Amino acid sequence: MLNLNADSTPTASEAFALAQAGLGKRHISMPLDMSHEEVFLLKKEYPKLQALDGGWLLYKSTGGQGKRKLIMIPPDSDVYTGTLLRAVSQGQGRTPCIFGRINQKVLNSDSVADVQLRELIDQVESATEHSIIGLSDEILNCGYTGNVSIPNKDTIVRAIILHAVLWLQPMLEQLREGLQLYGLLSLMSQYPDICQPLFVSGEDVKVNAEFVMTSILPQLSDTGTTRHQVELEMMNFIQDFLYEAEDHGHVDKDGLHPITPATFLQWITGQGHVPLLPSEKKDFAVVIQFNHDCSADFGPHSVCYPVVTACAKTITLPVRHMRPYEKFKNILTEAFQLGQEFSNV
Ligand SMILES: [Zn+2]
Repeated sequence: MLNLNADSTPTASEAFALAQAGLGKRHISMPLDMSHEEVFLLKKEYPKLQALDGGWLLYKSTGGQGKRKLIMIPPDSDVYTGTLLRAVSQGQGRTPCIFGRINQKVLNSDSVADVQLRELIDQVESATEHSIIGLSDEILNCGYTGNVSIPNKDTIVRAIILHAVLWLQPMLEQLREGLQLYGLLSLMSQYPDICQPLFVSGEDVKVNAEFVMTSILPQLSDTGTTRHQVELEMMNFIQDFLYEAEDHGHVDKDGLHPITPATFLQWITGQGHVPLLPSEKKDFAVVIQFNHDCSADFGPHSVCYPVVTACAKTITLPVRHMRPYEKFKNILTEAFQLGQEFSNV
C-alpha cells in the first residue's frame, strides 16, 4: 500500500520508508470466492485504511522489481471480488496488487461527462422523500447498494460519480494504449493543434475560401453560349469575393455580421464547419444556380437578391443585377445581411 496516488511502484528506498510507516508490502491470502466486502480484509492488515473515507481503486504493477508502472484494475460493476483479482493476476505470476486512493479533489460532479448521469445527479440532489424512490432503478444501476433515501443523498451522489468515472477510465486507458501502439500518442502531445481537429468533439476545422471554392458545384449552361460566359464571370466574382472575405471580412454599414468564408458557408448550407464524418463529406456541395431572366419572374424591376435554399444547399444568383464586380459584391453582401436578420427573427 502507498500513502498517496502514484503511477509507479516505489523505489527500494521509498518502499523501506513505507514499511517503517506500517504501509508497504504484505502477503495476504485471498479466497477465490471472496466478495467485495471481504476484499476489505485488507483493513485488518492495514488498519490505517479504516480512517480513510472515499473511493478506492486497486492497481497492479507491470511486474519485475524496482520502480514499475502501475495499471488500474477496473472493478467489475464497481466491486472487487476474489475471482476478478485472480483473473487480472493470471499470466503474470504473482502480480502484486497495490491499493491506491482515488484523488478526491478530482472526483466531484464536474468530472461526470455523461449527460444522463449528470442529470441523475441533479435529480438526486433536488429529490424529495417521494421522488427519490422513482430514481431507485437508475441509482441501483450505478452500483449503489445501500438504502435509496434522502439521508443517503450524499452517498448516492458519490456512488453515481464513482460509477461514471470508473466506467470511463478503463475505456480511456484502452484508447491511450491503442494510440501508443501507432506512436500517435507522442505525436499528439508534440503537435496538439494539428491533431485536435482529428477528433470529432474538438474544435471545428477552419473553413477557408479554398474549401468553399472546392465545395462549389455550379450548374453551368452549355459551353460556347453567352450564358456560359456570364456564369464563368460569376464564378470568378465568387472566388474574388471569398478570398477578400478571408483576408478582411466584408462588413455592411452597421458592421454587425461580417462575411467570412465560414459565415458564407453557414448562410448557404446551414453549417459553418468543414464536414468531418465521411458520410457528410461525400454529399457536401454548395450548388450555384444562375437566373438569367429574373424579369420573367418579377416583371420590370431594378433590384433583386440571390435566393438561398439552405436545406438544398443552393444559392441562385440573379446575374442581370450582379455585374460588374462592385454590384456583385453589394448585392451579395446585402442579401447576406438580410438573411442574417431573417434568421434572427
Ligand atoms: Zn432581378
